[in-house]
Amino acid sequence: MLTRLILYIIVIINFITSQNSDKFKQLDQEIATPNLYRTASGYPGHGYWQNRADYTIDVKINDDEQSIEGFETITYKNNSPDNLNYLWVQLDQNVRAKDSDSYKISTGSMQRKLDFTWIKPGYVIGDKEANEILNKFDGGFNIEEVVTIDGRKLNYVINKTMMRIDLIKPMKPGSKMSISIRWNYNIQDRIFMGGRPGYEFFKSDSNYLYTICQWFPRMAMYNDVYGWQNKQFLGRGEFTLDFGDYDVRITVPSDHIVAATGELQNSMEVLTSAQIKRLKQARASDEPVIIITQGEAEKNEKSRSKKFKTWRYKAKNVRDFAFTSSRKFIWDAMGIRLGSRTIMAMSYYPKEANPLYERYSTRAVAHTVRVYSKYTFDYPYPVAISVEANNGMEYPMICFNYGRPEKDGTYSERIKYGMISVIIHEVGHNYFPMIVNSDERQWTWMDEGLNSYLQFLTE
Ligand SMILES: [Zn+2]
Repeated sequence: MLTRLILYIIVIINFITSQNSDKFKQLDQEIATPNLYRTASGYPGHGYWQNRADYTIDVKINDDEQSIEGFETITYKNNSPDNLNYLWVQLDQNVRAKDSDSYKISTGSMQRKLDFTWIKPGYVIGDKEANEILNKFDGGFNIEEVVTIDGRKLNYVINKTMMRIDLIKPMKPGSKMSISIRWNYNIQDRIFMGGRPGYEFFKSDSNYLYTICQWFPRMAMYNDVYGWQNKQFLGRGEFTLDFGDYDVRITVPSDHIVAATGELQNSMEVLTSAQIKRLKQARASDEPVIIITQGEAEKNEKSRSKKFKTWRYKAKNVRDFAFTSSRKFIWDAMGIRLGSRTIMAMSYYPKEANPLYERYSTRAVAHTVRVYSKYTFDYPYPVAISVEANNGMEYPMICFNYGRPEKDGTYSERIKYGMISVIIHEVGHNYFPMIVNSDERQWTWMDEGLNSYLQFLTE
């Protein structure tokens, strides 16, 4: 009996080691086998393709209830050689739905985990009061309609953070189609619940600062290796998306300031003549120029307009779109000369982040764009924005960062250099993965690794 057991063990060990030491093993699990789309050298093959998703979006923030409503039209181009019978769309915000799996995988003390009673919808480990608030909150998408461009309803299935849209007839290779989606959801208290999208409420002046990201139904990636990348979003992992052009109209209270991916199209309608004049000066300046001073921002904080304004932003060839909105923003900017182009480095921050942000943020953005451009390729976008939002997360052209001094305005070296580091890191993510579009939901280390290396060079 014992000898037979030993024999079994030897056979199993032999099997395991032979599996791992085969020098001729395909790297198929790690790297796709070379084919006409992907060569062994790492270059795209002669048959390489990417699908494309262009968006026009109308979105409105309701500042009284902290909710958001949107209507979007996605124009999807199938450049693949395959017929597509259905499309997959990411609904990341469903990570805040009551039945979200994110609650089931949240970690806490071992004792609480062992009794398993916490595994029910909307229940997370934490103190009782927090759990009660979280149990009541539903931040998931409410999808109102999914229709074709000529108004025909499309069937769809929502599976947690993913939505499959069934097409009336398959999308042929090389074809294009437009789909419109109407939706709304409740915005979460990001400071209390965590996560990237949401708001921060400032008790001292009763204002909200919104960071709106991973916020609209986004076309999932279809590629030659996996087909649809339709893995669930669990809150920590990130994403991959196809490139596209965005035309986004953002409606907010008329006393809010909005910063977003892309270039502002209607400055005459939303900015004052003084702000427009200062922006022009900033473009020609090698030093940050203040567009909205702290004094002006503090005055804005006291305003409570019931009117609305629509800010229109356009962005070309980006794989996502994010924005921020608040009455609290101080705003500064400067021009970065890169070859024959001028890129606007800009920062938006509440007074709580001053004097740190006014001193270092825009300079850190400009330095990052210059150093990354030197070591990789020229920054291709027209703007690079740092927003202080007590957070650290990147989106194309805009990122959310942290670093606030003490109440009296003093700060330690740790806070200062931590703040500069996070700005360099998040602005640097424009390169990896926003331009070099690796699949973050599958391989988080790819963009983080390359970006951290360049971050340290830049520091
Ligand atoms: Zn990172």
